[in-house]
Amino acid sequence: MPVSAIASGYSGRLTVNTGALKRNWQALDKVSRGALTGAVLKADAYGTGLPAAAKAFYEAGARFFFVATPDEGIAARAALPQDTHIFVLNGLYPGAAPLYVGERLMPCLASMPMLEEWLEACLEKNQALPAALHFDTGINRLGFRLNEAPAVKRLVDGVGYQPQMIMSHLACADIPGHEKNRTQLALFTAVMAQFPGVPASLANSAGLMTARENHFQMVRPGIALYGGRAVAGRRNPMSPVVTLEAPVLMIKEVKTGESVGYGALQTMVRDTRLAIVAMGYADGFSRALSGANNHRGTYVAFGGVPCPVIGRVSMDMIGVDVTDLPRLPGPGEMIEILGAHIGIDDHADVAKTIGYEILTSLKGRYTRHYVDLNPPAAG
Ligand SMILES: *Cc1c(COP(=O)(O)O)cnc(C)c1O
Repeated sequence: MPVSAIASGYSGRLTVNTGALKRNWQALDKVSRGALTGAVLKADAYGTGLPAAAKAFYEAGARFFFVATPDEGIAARAALPQDTHIFVLNGLYPGAAPLYVGERLMPCLASMPMLEEWLEACLEKNQALPAALHFDTGINRLGFRLNEAPAVKRLVDGVGYQPQMIMSHLACADIPGHEKNRTQLALFTAVMAQFPGVPASLANSAGLMTARENHFQMVRPGIALYGGRAVAGRRNPMSPVVTLEAPVLMIKEVKTGESVGYGALQTMVRDTRLAIVAMGYADGFSRALSGANNHRGTYVAFGGVPCPVIGRVSMDMIGVDVTDLPRLPGPGEMIEILGAHIGIDDHADVAKTIGYEILTSLKGRYTRHYVDLNPPAAG
């Protein structure tokens, strides 16, 4: 984060509620009781800041963590106490085995070259270095193909290696009725039978929230921990984690028939008071949230009242219709971009994307604060 850009204290403000992170982890841990509950920390903990999020989940009780890359693994290792286990979901990066060993990171081995390189490192160290085996049950992304399972089994048995875990990933967990969920569950169960006694993990947030059969020995929630909607078309039971506010720069009176912003895409149908707010696409507020004559933009809020974004989102600012507010915000007053009244999924729906992308787009041009509100009850 460029410190110089936020040193003045006049910019926007991102607040992460670590109390909500803890509550969300404990709520999911309750749902998946019987299985271990991990915490996915990839992409800077979905934009909330990896070190603080890692510590919050640890305090809540998490001991198993998932990152995507070796660098995230280094950051997680530095943030977490020693009694923690860190899996690298992207697997073993070529040549990176010594780094994983030094940082005590466990790759989710997904291909023969990854497995061979890891077993070589084990032989060199004369140690069964822990790792997971990742099988592809239909997403066609990372993972061994299922017909490779016997060869994988032969290879690990040949050197007496016992994997820490076997895992797979669901392609359609957010659509509970999708038939692919049943197919993948059946295929995964068949792989498990070839690795008797090895703990298994299948479920992301949606997988764990929709079906108990997905839990096995470990669940791997991400988005739900950060307050996002995991399952399409259902009420989201998680606590919001992130608040983002940005200051009003000025109020602009715009007359009926005048247009607002680049491209002159939205023409006023009444005399309008616009708050010009210091939040733009360079701050992670996507251009897909823009308003135009033929479709509404997203909303932000002032004093708890939703106000529509008018015209195109610029790099550094947006126009917000504040005409109907009981009290006009003055320059320097904060507009809620994300928070109690406007959630990440509200923006996601307008931008035709998912809450994951809204969260992971949060940038560093505003100050970051961590607060611990409503801490969970002890025990
Ligand atoms: C990102 C990821 C998760 C977490 O997914 P959410 O939908 O955010 O809960 C779990 N497993 C794997 C393999 C992932 O890549």
